[in-house]
Amino acid sequence: MTEKVYGIHHITAIAGDPQRNIDFYTGVLGLRLVKLTVNFDDPGTYHLYYGDEQGRPGTVLTFFAWSGAGALPGRAGAGQVTAVAFTAPPASLAYWQERLHEHGINTAPPVDRFGEPVLAFRDPDGLGLEIVFTETPARSSPSAGPIPVDHVLRGFHSATLSLSDGEATAAFMRRWLGFTLTGERDGRRRLTTEDDGSGTPVDLVTVPPAPNGCMGPGAVHHIAWRTPDEESQHRLLVELRRHGVEASSVRDRTYFRSIYLREPGGVLFEVATDTPGFAVDEPLERLGRELRLPPWLERQRSDIEQALPPLRLPNNE
Ligand code: ZN
Repeated sequence: MTEKVYGIHHITAIAGDPQRNIDFYTGVLGLRLVKLTVNFDDPGTYHLYYGDEQGRPGTVLTFFAWSGAGALPGRAGAGQVTAVAFTAPPASLAYWQERLHEHGINTAPPVDRFGEPVLAFRDPDGLGLEIVFTETPARSSPSAGPIPVDHVLRGFHSATLSLSDGEATAAFMRRWLGFTLTGERDGRRRLTTEDDGSGTPVDLVTVPPAPNGCMGPGAVHHIAWRTPDEESQHRLLVELRRHGVEASSVRDRTYFRSIYLREPGGVLFEVATDTPGFAVDEPLERLGRELRLPPWLERQRSDIEQALPPLRLPNNE
């Protein structure tokens, strides 16, 4: 394989109530709502995108909001991304402990992981979140949100995948996506890809095979890796298929182009292009202020809008 991926592009999880999700990620964590749209495969539900000021790849956490009465909570387990880690400067640990506490969010005592302090907590739906305090180069541009600039979250540090057979997943990621093994400690196997900075780690932990993880609010739906553009994505897809690795055809997600593949442990992987980005259908300074729809859903706009719950948007206040 000559083509590889370059760190995390975005991570998509399931939320329950979309308003509670917006209030937490913009109001408490200080991320910017960079796109308000619907799940293109299920236009009756919101797709909310958060990131830095521009929604740069490597900072983007997105949610499908399953707010219907029938949505059973997700369950973390084998075959899932079970923790999403942001990065913040080392001097920000006390700030974040206090801020989360003030907002009634329980945090576990900080732990050391590969020499860096990690603060773990959960979002309102139970999604596992972490902040890793480290000098890692910032991937994000300063945000105009509620967090003082010295403490603002600076994009993803890493993600944790829980697997019943970490060996098979590690081999798959090294063989087909260009990851290298860069650490092994305390039952954690750390794989890293190159990116614009010092590399994005992904940690694999082994968990009992049962009960398996289950999709629903609080669970991660998929993790997307970066590829520069449609040409590099096409080269990767051709190589995967030539070697018998199943991958979807290219999907147009408006803000990026995507292919999907399932690694042997069951986690859904996406490979998404850095281009064209979130400013393709609204100006950067107005990102996330109104519902955007792809051209093929635009003529159903009034039906779609009527079916969606109304929202109070932070950028419009
Ligand atoms: Zn995705």
